[in-house]
Amino acid sequence: MNITTHSQEETADVGRKLAPRLTAGSVLLLIGDLGAGKTALVRGLAEGLGVAPEEVSSPTFTLMQEYRGGRVPLIHVDLYRLNNAREIEELGLEELGLNAVLAIEWAEKLPRPVPDAIEIRIAHGDGDERRLTMTPWSA
Ligand code: ADP
Ligand code: MG
Repeated sequence: MNITTHSQEETADVGRKLAPRLTAGSVLLLIGDLGAGKTALVRGLAEGLGVAPEEVSSPTFTLMQEYRGGRVPLIHVDLYRLNNAREIEELGLEELGLNAVLAIEWAEKLPRPVPDAIEIRIAHGDGDERRLTMTPWSA
């Protein structure tokens, strides 16, 4: 599925609309350059799950952040600063993700494919345009 957005809010909306379809164990792989809008999408996702949007910061500086205020816990991970497979393994994402929705920025760094994950690629267009490509999922 392809969606073009023209503002941060529109990208957040994609996350908001996705939220009702997610349950504990859902994994969202976010792939796109710096400034693509990955965090914006997660902010919308958090809001859709019932977490206060102002709680969602950029986890680039925190690596991993958990939000418990919503319908299901949300774990927001940013792999930008991790440089090798071992560091990523040590996060223990597989286990953490069992009871939460897992949203992973820079997911292309994951050492192994994640079965049944939803993959969203975000590419820069002109100006504020972003092109989102989402793998189809059945839920
Ligand atoms: P990432 O997490 O991918 O590095 P962020 O979501 O933190 O990106 O930042 C995206 C930046 O791009 C924000 O400054 C936002 O205002 C800007 N922006 C402009 N247009 C869009 C759009 N269509 N979707 C998302 N962000 C956009
Ligand atoms: Mg980000």
